[in-house]
Amino acid sequence: MWHGERARNGTGVAMDVEMLKRRRTKIVATLGPSSSDAATIEKLIAAGVNVVRLNMSHGDHEAHAQAYKELRTAAHNARNPIGVLVDLCGPKLRVGRFEGGGIDLVEGASVVVTTREVVGEAGLIASQYATLNEEIEAGARILLDDGALELRVDGVAGTEVTCTVVRGGRLKDRKGMNLPGSRLATPALTPKDIDDARFAIDLGADYLALSFVRKAQDVEDLKALLPADDPPRIIAKIEHPDALDNIDAIIDAADGIMVARGDLGVELPPEEVPVIQRRLVALARAHSKPCIVATQMLESMIEHAQPTRAEVSDVSTAVFSSADAVMLSAETASGSYPVEAVAMMDRIARQVEAHVFAERRFRAEGGDPVPAAGSSPVAEAVGVAVAQLSRDLRCRAIVVVSLGGTGATARVMSAARPGAPIVGAAATLRGMLQQSLLWGVVPRLVQPAEIEEPEELAKRVAAQLDLAGAGDRILLVKGFEQSPSITVLEV
Ligand code: PEP
Repeated sequence: MWHGERARNGTGVAMDVEMLKRRRTKIVATLGPSSSDAATIEKLIAAGVNVVRLNMSHGDHEAHAQAYKELRTAAHNARNPIGVLVDLCGPKLRVGRFEGGGIDLVEGASVVVTTREVVGEAGLIASQYATLNEEIEAGARILLDDGALELRVDGVAGTEVTCTVVRGGRLKDRKGMNLPGSRLATPALTPKDIDDARFAIDLGADYLALSFVRKAQDVEDLKALLPADDPPRIIAKIEHPDALDNIDAIIDAADGIMVARGDLGVELPPEEVPVIQRRLVALARAHSKPCIVATQMLESMIEHAQPTRAEVSDVSTAVFSSADAVMLSAETASGSYPVEAVAMMDRIARQVEAHVFAERRFRAEGGDPVPAAGSSPVAEAVGVAVAQLSRDLRCRAIVVVSLGGTGATARVMSAARPGAPIVGAAATLRGMLQQSLLWGVVPRLVQPAEIEEPEELAKRVAAQLDLAGAGDRILLVKGFEQSPSITVLEV
């Protein structure tokens, strides 16, 4: 059975979540206190995680190194190619600590934000951003705790920024601080990020995510720290409005992007975020680069075993829009139901994909992307042609053999969103794991000698992965960047 022949309910919607052997949309899960032990990591893998995220905003290097070790062991035992993404916190502004752990801000009251190194108290907030007083002006907004609280700046005198509370509530130790509309001098790569990046490189991370990217140079600055051989791929987190003005150059410089909706929805009116999300997913695909949709996707599952209907709908919207990956943050890092959250995401993605597959709309969902400046029109045209060929010939799989190790052919093939699953055969472990984030790609490690006989290799891996049986057709594709080649094979 190939396209759209499964049971449908009365509304004509394909209901079979098992319709596709492989989920196309990838799941990224953040590890943390709720999920870093070996037993939970094993369960997360079994539930469908494709990439784990180690968030440098929390935890120390020792804890992250331990979680990394557990993950690699569990993934090896499960024979499952799980990628590791280390998320650098970037210049996230935070308030300091308070006597008693927090203070209450009352609407209309006056409060001072100081750059002095003090412990905060009623009416006094310490800023961990040392030059706040030099870079902010009267009339500016200060948002605290992801925008839950708001201050308006009345004036600045020396180290003291006097404000009026516009939206009050409890402010706790080290909560985030956003200054929408203020131009800050701070670089995207802080000394802590440089230290964390070196740690992540030594650890063997497959991806590095860079926070608060504002321009392509921010990505280049991180690239300058990477080793020449086997470098981790860079994901630019889009969470600052300046990034939207420079988005094409940022996507060109990076290896992928993340729609970091938490901070984006504080820096910009939250109602603008869904439209931006949709645009970014399509734009990344037009550049043949992966896009992760992140933050609050199943937020209520931090405390509850079931998500809200609205959250289910949010995840499905991202999947419908053809995002490469959907991400869980606190749900898996510190929530009470980390495994259930991954299992839920898996089911939602499968449900949507079964429907889109049945409608033969993988390529069209999210709009046909227009090839972007900086992308390779030949490679992309070949990718789209291969997707069409795989459909016309009813191929069970598209096997991509990575020759140069950059994974470019798999990226381009993924961006074409074919109906058939893509097998990304790579001869290096890093090259293979860096395909774990790509939509529709099943990464597969092969021996360099096997690549000498790519046709045999393609038939063998398609059969081993249970994607094709005797007599089924598959496609073998190679070398999109230099000289594309496409071969139709019978297993
Ligand atoms: C976000 O802001 O949405 C995000 C993913 O970044 P972080 O979780 O690092 O704040």
